[in-house]
Amino acid sequence: MENKGNISIHAQNIMPVIKRWLYSDKDIFIREMVSNGCDAITKYKMLKGETGEDLRVTVTVDKEAGELRFTDNGIGMTAEEVEKYINQVAFSSAEEFLKNYTGDDKGGIIGHFGLGFYSAFMAADKVTIDTLSYQEGAAPVLWESEDGMAFTMRDGGRTERGTTIILHIMDEEKEFLDGYRVRQVLDRYCGYMSVPIYLEDMTPDETKKDPDEPTGTEEEEKEKAQTPINDVHPLWLKAPKECTEEEYKETYHKLFHTFEDPLFWVHLNVDYPFNLKGILYFPRIKRDFGGQEGEIKLFNRQVFVADNIKEVIPEFLMLLKGVIDCPDLPLNVSRSFLQNDGYVKKISAHITKKVADRLNGLFNTERKQYETYWDDIHPFVKYGCVRDSKFYDMVKGSLLFKTTAGEYLTLDEYRARNEGKAEKKVYYTTEQNRQAAAVALYTEKGIDVAVMDTLIDMNFMSFMEFGGGNEGLQFVRVDADVTGLTEESEEGKDIDQGKMEKLFRDALGDQELTVKIEALSDHDLPVVLTEEEQVRRYKEMSAMYGQDFGFPSKYTLVLNRLCPTIRALAAMEEGDMSALLCRQLFDLARLSSRPLEAEDLKSFIARSNELIAKLAEKA
Ligand code: ADP
Ligand code: MG
Repeated sequence: MENKGNISIHAQNIMPVIKRWLYSDKDIFIREMVSNGCDAITKYKMLKGETGEDLRVTVTVDKEAGELRFTDNGIGMTAEEVEKYINQVAFSSAEEFLKNYTGDDKGGIIGHFGLGFYSAFMAADKVTIDTLSYQEGAAPVLWESEDGMAFTMRDGGRTERGTTIILHIMDEEKEFLDGYRVRQVLDRYCGYMSVPIYLEDMTPDETKKDPDEPTGTEEEEKEKAQTPINDVHPLWLKAPKECTEEEYKETYHKLFHTFEDPLFWVHLNVDYPFNLKGILYFPRIKRDFGGQEGEIKLFNRQVFVADNIKEVIPEFLMLLKGVIDCPDLPLNVSRSFLQNDGYVKKISAHITKKVADRLNGLFNTERKQYETYWDDIHPFVKYGCVRDSKFYDMVKGSLLFKTTAGEYLTLDEYRARNEGKAEKKVYYTTEQNRQAAAVALYTEKGIDVAVMDTLIDMNFMSFMEFGGGNEGLQFVRVDADVTGLTEESEEGKDIDQGKMEKLFRDALGDQELTVKIEALSDHDLPVVLTEEEQVRRYKEMSAMYGQDFGFPSKYTLVLNRLCPTIRALAAMEEGDMSALLCRQLFDLARLSSRPLEAEDLKSFIARSNELIAKLAEKA
């Protein structure tokens, strides 16, 4: 019997589209062929139960013949089934595909399920199906097509149950005849499929090439060929209580090709109301937040689908690493659909809650351990709070502030410890070294200073102040004002602010300078230069986004009336000496937070020499 025909009227429309979207993600045709083989075996097992047979999918690279072959000993297909599942039905989903495919969002389709088989034509100029159904008395079938549009179908010669799909690889896609290239794709997409998968490379050893791996002995090569490339029982499908710490780490190493251990993890294991399995790992973060990127692999029943699907996983969780296996996701739709899908929203809300629970659990039961994680996880947690106020509400009790003394305090603990000293404020530093002098003014008064030195901290602080429901909370950088540094005293109260301001303005040649007189508890400290918090933040923010509006900085020179130097200066006759002291004091105030540059530095040194000379003369 021979049967020729055209697959479907729609095929002419669909093939070019398939080729277009596959262009960016071509490798997946291998996944589709292998997963069909796995499906065929799964169906066979369902029908026959445990038969003790060695059920497997074999991928054969035959460079000489120019073929890639996918063989399985699953249920196979009868002629009627080929007709029904290959020739006709495939394109009902194709129609749907076309409907959803807008064409303008490249790579916008994340699942290609239902079109699987036809993806073969992306890489092949001829596809052959050689199959024999498990059904008694079934005749073998040989189906062939060169373009996925016209086909021939006739009796085949196969005697073993199962199917071989033969792809004659086109010239442009010869890379898929390289065993290492195929192995790479199999590792990526098929590493956790449910049926053992073997790779057989028929290329003679001498002509195999792999830049990374030295070729093993013949024995080793043989043994390798006898080991499945996949793990048919991924850890995330097991019950959490059956998994050991070692296994979690091992899976992490394998998934992310690293020897590093994760900090801790969350095992997702839900059956109802939706099916969601997975493991989310908190990686060690050593770099600054900006460069951090996690990786969450999305699986659909053990078949790898894609990395970092933003629509399914809440954006801030993308800093984590791990796997999510979600059989019910409607993957053959566009991303914009997923974004608005209520089901997807439920999944992502569930994941968020699980992550929050894990953090709270660690905080409540293993506080010390949790603190050791904090340096690694805080950018993630803070980013999560800023992005999702529900997440913030869940974890707010477990948020820590690291102090310059290396302690970790919650907001409540900070408040309790600094009661009467910090009111509703949290004092912080963005650069512990540069701001060391200002930090010391606070720590010497027994006030804790928080270290807020990552990119996300600025957003996080604004969020805590305005969006976090912390009535009146203010974050104040150590050099923003001196309200926390003063004490009650009558001394020096008679110093005339107007007169001192004029003195400094004239000496510095800056008529805009603001001068304030305060009673600072550090009596040896004559002056402090402060920069208004909100103005500074605004400037930093705009600089970060590359927009500097030239907004003027708002500095205030604070004179300490409890310091003898200032009182002496106030009592001094206005002249060269007072001007010299004003300039010197101003520079010293500046120096405590940033280095002086060029001209400023030169005149500072010259002035210092002048003062020393005067002292030496006197002595
Ligand atoms: P899907 O796998 O989503 O059903 P595919 O286009 O990948 O869609 O495959 C279409 C159909 O072709 C399958 O549902 C199956 O009935 C049949 N098929 C494909 N490959 C095989 C195979 N190796 N063995 C048995 N049947 C197969
Ligand atoms: Mg399929």
